[in-house]
Amino acid sequence: MVSQGTAKMESSIVWIPEELEIALNLKQQFGADAEFVAGGTLLQTNWEKDQPIPLYLISLERITALQGFKKETSEGGPMIQIGALTTLAEIIQNPFFLSNLPLLAEAARSIAAPAVRNRGTIGGNIAGGTGDTIPAFLVMDAHISFVNGTEIQQKPLEDCLKEGILQDGSILVSIDLFETGGQKFFKKVGRREAFTPSVVTIAGSCRVNSNKEMEAIRLAVGGGSNQPCRLEACEKLLHGNILSKELLEKLFLSIMEEFAASSDDFYTADYKKTIAANVIVYEMARFAGQMG
Ligand SMILES: Cc1cc2nc3c(=O)[nH]c(=O)nc-3n(C[C@H](O)[C@H](O)[C@H](O)COP(=O)(O)OP(=O)(O)OC[C@H]3O[C@@H](n4cnc5c(N)ncnc54)[C@H](O)[C@@H]3O)c2cc1C
Repeated sequence: MVSQGTAKMESSIVWIPEELEIALNLKQQFGADAEFVAGGTLLQTNWEKDQPIPLYLISLERITALQGFKKETSEGGPMIQIGALTTLAEIIQNPFFLSNLPLLAEAARSIAAPAVRNRGTIGGNIAGGTGDTIPAFLVMDAHISFVNGTEIQQKPLEDCLKEGILQDGSILVSIDLFETGGQKFFKKVGRREAFTPSVVTIAGSCRVNSNKEMEAIRLAVGGGSNQPCRLEACEKLLHGNILSKELLEKLFLSIMEEFAASSDDFYTADYKKTIAANVIVYEMARFAGQMG
C-alpha cells in the first residue's frame, strides 16, 4: 500500500513512506535527485556548508523495520540488533546499551550536544560515512543489514565501507553485533572539549592470554575528514606477541605509515597520525600492564 505524506521544504518535496519497499522505489524513481533522511542533523550541516538541497527527500522515520533494538540468539551466537533509526540519545540513556554496549554508549556520548543527539540516528551516523561511532563499530566487528532489492542482506561494516554500499541507494536497516570479548577503548580527540567535530577518532580492542601474548586485536581510526578504517598491518604486528618497549616503538611507526589521515583547514595529516599513534600505543601498554 502506498501510504505516505508529502511536505514542502524550501525547494524539496519530502516523501514520508511507511514501508521499506516504497522508500526504495522512490529512490530508484528519482535517483540522484532524491536523498534519504533520518534525523536530518548531518544533512543540515551539509546544507549549511552550501551543499545543494536535493529535489526530493525520502524520510525514513516512519518505517517500523528500522526501529527498535533487541538481543537474540542467532546461528553465530547471541546477537544484538540495533535498528537504524535508534537515536544517539537512546544509546546513551537506555540501560540496555549501557550494560550491553558501553563502548558504543561512550562513542555516542562524544557526539554533538543533547538536542542533536535527540534527533540524530545511529543509521545516519554510519551512512554519512565519517561518523564517530564507526571506529567503535569496526572494533566490535559490526555487521550491517541493508536492502537494495527485495531481500535484506548482511555484510561486515568493514566491507560495506570499502564497497561504498551505504552510498549506493541501499537502506541501512540495522547494525548487528556478535559477542567479541576482550578489552576495548574509544577516544575522540576534538578541537575543543565538547560539541566539536573530531580531529581523529580512535577505537581498539584486544585480549592478553595467559602467556601474556596479545590476540583478538582490532584497531580502527576515523573521525572528521578521515576515512574510517581498520589498521590491519598494525593488528598483525601485535598479534601473538608479548608487548615490549621495542614492539611499542614499531607499533608507533607502523601507525604513522598505515593510517591514511587527511589534512584539513586546521590540522595536517601528520599531526592526526601522531595523535592516533600516541593514543593507541598508550592504550595497548595499559592493557598489557593490567593483564601482566
Ligand atoms: C551541531 C552538530 C554537531 C555534530 N557533531 C557530530 C560529531 O561530533 N560526530 C559525528 O559523528 N557527527 C556529528 N554530527 C552529525 C550528525 O548529528 C550525526 O552524524 C548523526 O548521527 C547523523 O544522523 P541523522 O539521523 O541525523 O542523519 P541524516 O542527516 O538524516 O543522514 C545522514 C546521511 O545518512 C543517510 N542515511 C540516514 N539514514 C540512513 C539509512 N537508514 N539508510 C541509508 N542511508 C541513510 C542520509 O541519506 C544522509 O546521507 C553533528 C551534527 C550537528 C548539527
